[in-house]
Amino acid sequence: VKKSQNQDISQKLSGFEAICREKGLKLTHQRLEIYRELLLAKDHPTVETLYQRVKKRIPTISLDTVYRTLAMLEEADMINRIQTSEGHARFEPDYGVHHHLICRKCQNITDFTWKAFDTMPPPPEIEQWGEVGVKNIVIEGICSDCLRKEEKK
Ligand SMILES: [Zn+2]
Ligand SMILES: [Zn+2]
Repeated sequence: VKKSQNQDISQKLSGFEAICREKGLKLTHQRLEIYRELLLAKDHPTVETLYQRVKKRIPTISLDTVYRTLAMLEEADMINRIQTSEGHARFEPDYGVHHHLICRKCQNITDFTWKAFDTMPPPPEIEQWGEVGVKNIVIEGICSDCLRKEEKK
């Protein structure tokens, strides 16, 4: 499992290199490290969290560089942004169709898949509205861990 994950990461990193070359953007060590860190993250980090992690290895990195690199990756469709009601955007590498559960208490984001929804035809009013691109579900609530803590109080 570990090995295939490493292969996957190096494949994605070379994809990033190719896109930078295509767009005439300089591929810096910093940009690669930011993307690598996001590929390793399992928790849909905020820009700030990602910055703190990369900073441990590259102390000279600036928050602005992290912002700009994520914007670039987003534009190239290599990462997804998840908007939460608390207002902080959270990021993840793009790895196929899935949806999100967000806990209002601990802010943890959990991935889930919903095949029936993905293949369901949209209601007629949406067809009249135009063409559907991405269908993403965000469900907010309180996770079972937080519910259990509440009960103990
Ligand atoms: Zn929770
Ligand atoms: Zn996700």
